[in-house]
Amino acid sequence: MTGGAGRYAPSPAGDLHLGNLRTAVVAYLAARHDGLAFRLRVEDLDDRSRRRFAERQLADLAVLGIVWDGPVMWQSARREAYDAAVASLAEQGLTYECFCSRRDILDAPRAPHRPPGAYPGTCRDLSAGERDGRRATKAPAIRLRAQVDGFAVTDRLAGTCLQPVDDFILRRADGVSAYNLAVVLDDSAQGVTQVTRGDDLLASAGRQSYLASLLGLDQVAYCHIPLVYNTAGQRLSKRDGALAGPELVKRYGSIPGLVAAIGQSIGLADQRETTLDLDELSRRFDWNELKIGAWRV
Ligand code: GLU
Repeated sequence: MTGGAGRYAPSPAGDLHLGNLRTAVVAYLAARHDGLAFRLRVEDLDDRSRRRFAERQLADLAVLGIVWDGPVMWQSARREAYDAAVASLAEQGLTYECFCSRRDILDAPRAPHRPPGAYPGTCRDLSAGERDGRRATKAPAIRLRAQVDGFAVTDRLAGTCLQPVDDFILRRADGVSAYNLAVVLDDSAQGVTQVTRGDDLLASAGRQSYLASLLGLDQVAYCHIPLVYNTAGQRLSKRDGALAGPELVKRYGSIPGLVAAIGQSIGLADQRETTLDLDELSRRFDWNELKIGAWRV
């Protein structure tokens, strides 16, 4: 191993469906191919009671043949690290308190240069008096005082692209750290150098990369994988009844059947191959051979 690591970082919001498993498999194969360690992290920022799902997710990954190095990181145990980073950004004048509700943000007039969904900057320049007044009735969220409105990231599949950066939330009003902060700190703490994940997160990569630069952390290499959709064209989600666990295995006949289907969907297996194991896919993995499009199942 060369010292870096790849990783898979599921949120324990339900069981892993085919889209999650395909991303995990590509992340694993890519890390192994590049001689990296492979780390696992449970993104349970929100809710510790999801431990049951997390345990099942880890078991499902292991059943597929994914082997990870070192202990699993649990975000719910990392609050001190997140708070320390917010404090250091605050010392540099790079944070401010925000009292806006979701509604306030939706209703605020949008400056033409701001991308849709960007924070409109309502609380950026509140006076000390205004802040004290609002704090008396409402706990503030902490936002980043961003100095740029875009940041370029290089993605293995998408190429180099400029992604939006706004004054995004670092810590929510309820004290829970935001995903964008946690992910940057956790990847660094786990020695991650290669981030392979779903391409719904490509648009967040600019914020995360920019934050890493402010915190003096190394940049990671990105590879965002197209998602998997159902026949109605919706992205798979457990909420909409996507198959997972034993039901998913049953649909493909067996674990090797499931691995073969994933292998076919990324261009590493022939349509006639009905069973494969991860070691075989690992032998075949080659960045130039990968053909990963959106997958409809
Ligand atoms: N926890 C996120 C998810 O399950 C992935 C975050 C990441 O890979 O950066 O979609």
